[in-house]
Amino acid sequence: MTEVFTGSFTQQEPIPEAGIAAALDVLRHGRLHRYNTIPDEVAEADLLEQEFASLMGAKYALAVASGGYAMATALRACGIGAGDKVLSNAFTLAPVPGAIASVGATPVFVEVTEDLTIDLTDLAAKADQARVLLLSHMRGHIADMDALMALCEARDITVIEDCAHTMGAKWNGTWSGRHGVLGCYSCQTYKHVNSGEGGFLVGDDPELMARAVMLSGSYMMYGRHGAAPPVETFEDIRLETPNISGRMDNLRAAILRPQLQDLATQCDRWNARYRVMEDGLAQTPGLYLPHRPEAEDYVMSSFQFLLLDWDENAIRRVIAGCLNRGVELKWFGAEDPVAFTSKYDSWRYANPQPMPQTDRVLHGILDMRLPLTFSLEDCALIARIIRDEVARAFQMAAE
Ligand SMILES: *Cc1c(COP(=O)(O)O)cnc(C)c1O
Repeated sequence: MTEVFTGSFTQQEPIPEAGIAAALDVLRHGRLHRYNTIPDEVAEADLLEQEFASLMGAKYALAVASGGYAMATALRACGIGAGDKVLSNAFTLAPVPGAIASVGATPVFVEVTEDLTIDLTDLAAKADQARVLLLSHMRGHIADMDALMALCEARDITVIEDCAHTMGAKWNGTWSGRHGVLGCYSCQTYKHVNSGEGGFLVGDDPELMARAVMLSGSYMMYGRHGAAPPVETFEDIRLETPNISGRMDNLRAAILRPQLQDLATQCDRWNARYRVMEDGLAQTPGLYLPHRPEAEDYVMSSFQFLLLDWDENAIRRVIAGCLNRGVELKWFGAEDPVAFTSKYDSWRYANPQPMPQTDRVLHGILDMRLPLTFSLEDCALIARIIRDEVARAFQMAAE
């Protein structure tokens, strides 16, 4: 019997009932703008920021319109602008180089390892080219943050973290997003909390966070941010920081607050699914599973494996075989970008230079979502299908 999977890779769980009720309250009173409050009312957006700051153990937090907006704001707050260069991962998603381009800067791409993290040797080699690293924890794979931070501190490089895939993850006990000077998160539907669109910035540096608040479009109402630096911090910067509107609204904040309360539970559920996939694919000939270091507490809402050095046709055979059985794999090696999988050489505005090591890894990466609507049994079935199709293609290639 040939097993087939019939679930949907793009179906997330519904918004928790508490979020729906809170959203209805906001809709009924109509005060969706975060600064539209009645006396003694604290806006949902403000409460959300206070709760996220407390969850992350950060002094300050700011909720914004998207993860991409959070990254661009972080760069601007650090003084990055036209003509500057910013170190960043060659293996990441388009909004990361896009955030760099949006401030007029140019990315300097750093190679990726087989374990899908930034290559620290290449980072060291390129360290003199920029004073900021926008570090993307792409697909939830976290580099050795102790080594990375030591390297960046020694070279005077400011680290901004893109935690679109690591909300709730840790390295060596420290939350992802709390190693660098600013952490950026996304609340887009396919990340770890879902408000459709949305994002966060966290940090401990009062001046950077005050700039971020002004940039996000606070006008002169920054005093109404419970998770922002003290108002004195704004005195020097409030008239010299542009308003680049990208606020969070109360409707989305209301949807997100109960989800933050559930984050730890949801992370455990994602990881249980990831481990079933990992177990199901362990020791498959020709298939490489990224190594997960002891120090890494990941949150895997997606799954990656590599068919390293495989011939293109054999990879296509695996993808087609899996698709035929209901398992949608995204391939980072395709010549032409499809759906979400564009890669560094398709970001031509950044004038990317060839990166042989990254090309080899990207050519082999297969990627799939792990929505929480999948049961553990679903994951075991998907792993059996992939294992089967990989074995078949591997054998054909060997013949
Ligand atoms: C989704 C994503 C972002 C940006 O998030 P948006 O909220 O969609 O702007 C940034 N980095 C990575 C790696 C992402 O996957």
